[in-house]
Amino acid sequence: MEQHGEATFLDLGGLGEQERVLREQAHRIAVDVLRPAARALDRMAPAERIATGSPLFGALTTLKQLGYHRIFLTPEAGGPPERVSALAQSVVLEELGWGSLGLATAFLVDMLPVMGIANFGSDELKDELMVPWVDDESGAYHGCWAITEPDHGSDFLSLRDDDAPTFGRAQLVAEPAEGGWNLRGQKSAWVSSGPIATHAAVHAQAGRDGDLYHSLFCVVDLADPGVRRGPPADMLGVRDDPQGELFFDGVFVPDRNVLVPPGPLYPAFGDQLLCLTSSVLANVAVGVARAAFEEALGHARARTQGGGPLTGHKNIQLTLYSMFEKVESARTYARAVLAHTNAHLPGAGPDATGASPRHARAAQVLAKRVAYEVAHDAVQVHGAQGLHRDALVEKLFRDARCLIIEDGTLEVLALDAARDLVANYEHDVYDLEEMLSRE
Ligand SMILES: Cc1cc2nc3c(=O)[nH]c(=O)nc-3n(C[C@H](O)[C@H](O)[C@H](O)COP(=O)(O)OP(=O)(O)OC[C@H]3O[C@@H](n4cnc5c(N)ncnc54)[C@H](O)[C@@H]3O)c2cc1C
Repeated sequence: MEQHGEATFLDLGGLGEQERVLREQAHRIAVDVLRPAARALDRMAPAERIATGSPLFGALTTLKQLGYHRIFLTPEAGGPPERVSALAQSVVLEELGWGSLGLATAFLVDMLPVMGIANFGSDELKDELMVPWVDDESGAYHGCWAITEPDHGSDFLSLRDDDAPTFGRAQLVAEPAEGGWNLRGQKSAWVSSGPIATHAAVHAQAGRDGDLYHSLFCVVDLADPGVRRGPPADMLGVRDDPQGELFFDGVFVPDRNVLVPPGPLYPAFGDQLLCLTSSVLANVAVGVARAAFEEALGHARARTQGGGPLTGHKNIQLTLYSMFEKVESARTYARAVLAHTNAHLPGAGPDATGASPRHARAAQVLAKRVAYEVAHDAVQVHGAQGLHRDALVEKLFRDARCLIIEDGTLEVLALDAARDLVANYEHDVYDLEEMLSRE
């Protein structure tokens, strides 16, 4: 056990030197850069947040300069010569979430096109786009992930082959063209970083063979003719990452930008990609929860009511204990599942039999629910002060509320996990010890 400022970390996963150094550095960046930028962005009008000179760009560039995007990549994709451990990745993700859910989200969606190219892209696309993107430290490249549409939200994230008949026509369709595809239609107003991204990883329904269900996954340069953006959405929370619509008015996507040609989105590719995003977001959610817990503890120690500090009251003690218990359990599970997912994703090595959808979803559901519950309790511990816009817990509560919809609602993620466990659970081999001892 070791002390770290206000926080105490139980070193369950056996942090080594690499993880300790990264954690100290990432925490400093979260304190000095992410939180101040996030709080400023939270109060700005949507258009100001993406204007030149916005603190958004400085914060994202700092993360690039630190090379945090590279620690999630294999050496072949431009990551460090030795693969960074899942534990180290988890430590960084938690600190990013602690600093700002919005900036952490922007950081993650930035990686989507790169991850897509690294796993599925042609050598040509790797040289042309992935290499300069991974090398970039100036913020010249920024990615987003355009999945949901105005009429297809949960439908897109939980789609399985047997849902195809109910999905209907997508609002973004790819039409075959000479040497590539033409994209027509739009994505929803919730595309994270849509208003600032240079490139998007895009899912579009492909019309080839008259089967409109089949999904094409491609990378689109958002400077291409025919791309339009909607204004940044004015949301309740996660205001530190702008969200907005993307419109495609006959945008030509050359074949070399196609990552996965038209075919069923699930299970071969979509399931596994969502395992990765679920495992990653779970660790970010733990950071949000820990931030709320630490705010509540700090306030309860400092505030006097009933003749003594709030921490002297049993109800506050129990609330703080319950928050602590939730954060610690969610962290342990999120870390274990990230390690397991990294080790089992297709392409991860000889053991790579596929990550486990039910465990990845469970990690995301648990950590997001914990973040929301802990942020809710943190406001209660603050009393009226927790409702004031100057209180960090007020922002954390709004962010945590958005988090239980971001990247799939809790209910839809849980239903997705249920579908997998009902069909596939035997004697579950994914026991925690095996997951923790991976790598
Ligand atoms: C902060 C944030 C960031 C986001 N970032 C992105 C992004 O980068 N890219 C992107 O493409 N999208 C993004 N989204 C969109 C997000 O993925 C969707 O909002 C989410 O999947 C839910 O879809 P929806 O909002 O259309 O709600 P709906 O799908 O309309 O759901 C409404 C309600 O019905 C329930 N429901 C829906 N379908 C079912 C079902 N089959 N069974 C049971 N209950 C159901 C849901 O649980 C929910 O309570 C983001 C959203 C947020 C809030």
